[in-house]
Amino acid sequence: MPVTPSELGTQPVGGVARVFEDVWQLKVPVPFPLVFVASYLVREDDGWTVIDPGFDYPEGREVWRRGAKSLGLDLGGDIRRVVVTHLHPDHIGLAKWMSGRAGCPVLMSGMEIAAARRLWNPTADTDRFFRFMVRYGMDEATARPNVLKQSSRTELPDEITPLAPGEKLEMGAGSYRLIHAPGHTDHHLVFHDEHRGLLIGGDHVLLRITPNIGVWPATEPRPLARYLASVDGMRGLDVNLVLPGHGPLFHDLNGRIEELTRHHEDRLDVMYRAYAGEPATPYEIACRVFSLDLSDYQLRFALAETLAHLELLEEQGRIEVAGEHPVRHRPVRRMDDIGSEA
Ligand SMILES: [Zn+2]
Repeated sequence: MPVTPSELGTQPVGGVARVFEDVWQLKVPVPFPLVFVASYLVREDDGWTVIDPGFDYPEGREVWRRGAKSLGLDLGGDIRRVVVTHLHPDHIGLAKWMSGRAGCPVLMSGMEIAAARRLWNPTADTDRFFRFMVRYGMDEATARPNVLKQSSRTELPDEITPLAPGEKLEMGAGSYRLIHAPGHTDHHLVFHDEHRGLLIGGDHVLLRITPNIGVWPATEPRPLARYLASVDGMRGLDVNLVLPGHGPLFHDLNGRIEELTRHHEDRLDVMYRAYAGEPATPYEIACRVFSLDLSDYQLRFALAETLAHLELLEEQGRIEVAGEHPVRHRPVRRMDDIGSEA
């Protein structure tokens, strides 16, 4: 039986709903296929904590103005702090705008702050990304427009207060332990209130969508291996309700961990079989495994996701390096794979 969505938080995009005693969810639209990012608002004695305010564009700001009004929240004075799970623009994008209006601090993992300052640095070397994609077999014509699109930048707050895994964060009536949850980004945090069985999960565990686990130019090694170890380590946590960054709320964390683990095992097999016994570049494998009519933007994610799986296949001894310019791998025949290769 697949894990089913919760009956909580089923309001339309743009709407706000109470999802726990002191926690509300606002569905903030995003201008890409994920449709919305879930922002959470925690009621404090003297105002509100906002978790992951969303993507910064006019529709996002407008939904915040309306959502705040419906809760009787003054964006100019009632927000006490903005907490962010990870550095992606659909999560941190509105932090500067919101904290600037409210005059409140923004908090995020200290290591993630450093990564965000490097990644969203307006003078960053965009050519590095182009060379990265070409190195893994993408043709220059396809890689070039990708680089141009990447130049839309995320503005970060001038100051961000660092958080560290293992710390406790008091929010509303809850006491949340900060857990390092790598994979989707290197220093993603999730927030676990074990007494009330709540997990604020960011993009670490989503329902119906599997979080993108990719190798990007600045990613630390082995994101997929680290992701799988991280979700495996969350089995048995006291959780009755997961508040994810996208998609429906759900209750069965262990069931979802099982599904996500199986999904990646299947993807590893699919990518291994895509070699059909011959050497290939990571980009060739990405094109065989993902649908052919992807936009350049989606191709970039497909390549990053493929690289994460190939890295693990190589670590498992199922493929080996067969060339450097561009990078190529060849499958290694193992007893377990002989059946699946046919
Ligand atoms: Zn996201």
